[in-house]
Amino acid sequence: MFRNFRQVTNMVFGRGCFAQLTDILAPRRSHEGAFMVFVVDDYFTDKPLRSRIPLQEPDLLLWVNVDDEPKTKYVDQLTQTVKEFSPRLPAGVIGIGGGSTMDLAKAVSLMLTNPGSSTEYQGWDLIRHPAVYHVGIPTLSGTGAEVSRTTVLTGPDKKLGLNSDYTVFDQVVLDPELIAGAPKEQRFYTGMDCYIHCVESLKGTYLNAFSQAYGEKANDLCREVFLEGGPASDDKLMMASYFGGMSIAYSQVGICHALSYGLSFVLGVHHGIGNCIVFDYLEEFYPEGVVEFRRMMEKQGVVLPRNVVGDMDAALMEKMTNVALGLAPLWENALGKNWRDIMTRDRIQDLYRRM
Ligand code: NAD
Ligand code: ZN
Repeated sequence: MFRNFRQVTNMVFGRGCFAQLTDILAPRRSHEGAFMVFVVDDYFTDKPLRSRIPLQEPDLLLWVNVDDEPKTKYVDQLTQTVKEFSPRLPAGVIGIGGGSTMDLAKAVSLMLTNPGSSTEYQGWDLIRHPAVYHVGIPTLSGTGAEVSRTTVLTGPDKKLGLNSDYTVFDQVVLDPELIAGAPKEQRFYTGMDCYIHCVESLKGTYLNAFSQAYGEKANDLCREVFLEGGPASDDKLMMASYFGGMSIAYSQVGICHALSYGLSFVLGVHHGIGNCIVFDYLEEFYPEGVVEFRRMMEKQGVVLPRNVVGDMDAALMEKMTNVALGLAPLWENALGKNWRDIMTRDRIQDLYRRM
C-alpha cells in the first residue's frame, strides 16, 4: 500500500508576502461574528512583527511560550482559553513562529473540534473530525512542520504527534523576511533539522523516487545556505525546509531522530539542538553526512554542547533507551528489517554515554 497523503491546500511564497495575510483571511471573516485566533511565539511581543499581525475586532491573540517544546497539557489549556473566549468556533487559527508554535496552532485547531484531551489523539489517524481552518507562518526554517501531517507533542508518558490528514495546514505563508532575524545558533540548529531529514531520508531503506527528488534538492539547498551563504540564503533555507518535509512525507527519518527523541523526552533538549548533539556521534552510520555537517558547523562558527548525557543514572538511561527503541519505523528505515539484531540496547546506551 502506498501512502495517500494530504498536502497543504494553499501556499504563498516570497519576500514580504506576510502582508497578504489580511487578504488571505478576508473571505473567512465574511460571516457575522467571525473571529480569528492568532497563536504567536512570545519572542515577538516586543518585535516589529507584533504591529503587523492583522488583528481585527473581535480576534483573539494568544502569545505562546515555547521555552519548553509543546506539551499536551499546554494544548488543552490553550484550547480551553479559546472555548472560554467564545461559544462559537473561530473562523481560523493562525500560527506564527517556529516549529513549536506552528505545532501548537495545528494542535489547537484540531482540539477545538475533537472532544477530550490531546493525549487521547497521540498516534496515527486517531483524530475523527476536521480541524478549524488553520494557517502556518514560519519564523524559523528547517523542521518541515509547515508541510507535515503531524504536530509533535510531549504527553505524560510519550512524545508522539497527532498524525492525521486533518493536521495538515490549509494555508502556509512562506515569507523569507520573517526568518532573517534569527540568531546564528538557532538558525543553524533548526536548519540542521532539515539537513538531517535529508540525510536520513536519502540513506534510508524506504527511499523512493518521490522522496529522493525532494531530498536531493533540499540537501543541495542546505549546502548552499550553510557552506556558501549569500543574499538568497533565507529564501533557499525556507524552500529546503519545505522540500525536506516533503521528502520524509514518503520515507522516514532515521537513527539520529530516534536517539534525539529519547534525549528530548528525558532531558527536555529541543529537537534541533538535540539532533545536532546526536548526529555528531553517528559517523559510522552516516559517514559523508556527518563529515559535511561538521564542515557546516565550522563554517557557521557553532560549537555544540558536550557531556549532555555523561553519567546519567541508570533509570533515566533505561527510559531514554525505551523511547528511542519504541520508534520502530525509524530504525527499520535506517537499518532494514533486521534492525533489532544490529541496534541492541547496549549499543544505543554506548552511543548515548558518549554524548
Ligand atoms: P522552536 O519553535 O522550538 O523555537 C526555538 C526558539 O527560537 C524559541 O525560543 C523561539 O521563541 C525562538 N524563535 C522563533 N522564531 C524566531 C526568530 N525569527 N528569531 C529569533 N528567535 C526565534 O524551534 P524550531 O526548531 O523551529 O522547532 C522545533 C519544534 O518543532 C520542536 O517542538 C519539534 O518537536 C517540532 N517539530 C515538528 C515537526 C512537525 O512535523 N510537526 C517536525 C520537526 C520538529
Ligand atoms: Zn526533525
